[in-house]
Amino acid sequence: MIPYGRHSINDDDVNAVVDVLKNEFLTQGSQVPLFEQNLCEYTGARYAVACNSGTSGLHMACLAAGVGIGDKVWTSPNSFVASANCARYCGAEVDFVDIDPVTRNLSLSELQQKLSQAEENGKLPKAIVVVHFAGSSCDMKAISELTSPYGITLIEDAAHGLGGKDRYGNPIGSAVYSDFVVLSFHPVKSLTTAEGGAVLTNREANANSLRRYASHGISRDNSHFPNEEKASGWYYAQHDLGFNYRLSDIHAALGNSQIKRLNEFVAARLSLARRYESALSALPLKRPQLDIHSAWHLYVIELENRDRRVVFDALRARGVGVNVHYIPIYHHPYYQALGFKRHCYPACEKYYQNAITLPLFPELSADMQDRVISTLHEVLK
Ligand SMILES: *Cc1c(COP(=O)(O)O)cnc(C)c1O
Repeated sequence: MIPYGRHSINDDDVNAVVDVLKNEFLTQGSQVPLFEQNLCEYTGARYAVACNSGTSGLHMACLAAGVGIGDKVWTSPNSFVASANCARYCGAEVDFVDIDPVTRNLSLSELQQKLSQAEENGKLPKAIVVVHFAGSSCDMKAISELTSPYGITLIEDAAHGLGGKDRYGNPIGSAVYSDFVVLSFHPVKSLTTAEGGAVLTNREANANSLRRYASHGISRDNSHFPNEEKASGWYYAQHDLGFNYRLSDIHAALGNSQIKRLNEFVAARLSLARRYESALSALPLKRPQLDIHSAWHLYVIELENRDRRVVFDALRARGVGVNVHYIPIYHHPYYQALGFKRHCYPACEKYYQNAITLPLFPELSADMQDRVISTLHEVLK
């Protein structure tokens, strides 16, 4: 079965990990700060705080944004559940902004409408988690223009986006128009550390707060220590209820090796997307917008007048490991139990009915891709 996504590991990656295993520190050594520095250099963000998953990164970003009980957090329904769960971890209520059928990202006009309604009802969100679906950037400038009058915190869920750029040429992750950007390094993502994530920000206070949440709420900054402990070698102080969300040096070493290959990975993904774009043009389906600045995490087609289930099963039966991204978050039993109604998000419903994710990853060869293409032609004939 050709998978929909897959990591690429070479000898340099293997050696980088083995080197750490032979060194003094398996965790809390020099690889994590180096990885954070590499992420800052790549994205242009001032601060990066590595953590052990994209999900913990989202949780920390919500905590650092001050999200708590009684608050509201909005996100896109066309995403992985973690984009919404992070708010629930903090005791906040979640709501969804319907998607734009063209970009499949949170819709700007829906956001604008929902904001003015929320202003009237006094139910404005504390934070919005903006997802760059499939690696294609939302217009963060336009979003921040809508939200900044209300002082809403913007968290970018850029789990799909590392290696991509926005329409103004800013690397995804630069956090130019947002407060926090969260990355994931799960094996299907732009680069991998096996499990891992990071939060990027341009504000020092945010970075300090993220660092504390990643490590038990403990600070080693002695300027706040009681006087009698200032000079002691043993003292540390827990300020918040934090977690152990740290990334290990083994994982970070893999990330340091992988980030050198990131531009190649993204270029390979774009060139595969271009091949799909021309090879599928005669078929009864909607192709994704060919955003040349996208990180191309996913290639999702929307069928036209076909039963998605039938096409999906036929492709799988022929060895094409298609997938569906995403089951709308509010479809999940956990969110259904919170009372979400499907008819409130018509664009997301329509998209979900017809969406199929085709294989796309750097090591997908032209031959393998041709097999996917010819199988799809055969199935849709
Ligand atoms: C992968 C992913 C996450 C979660 O990242 P993990 O590193 O797996 O915890 C969050 N949001 C989106 C959109 C993702 O694709």
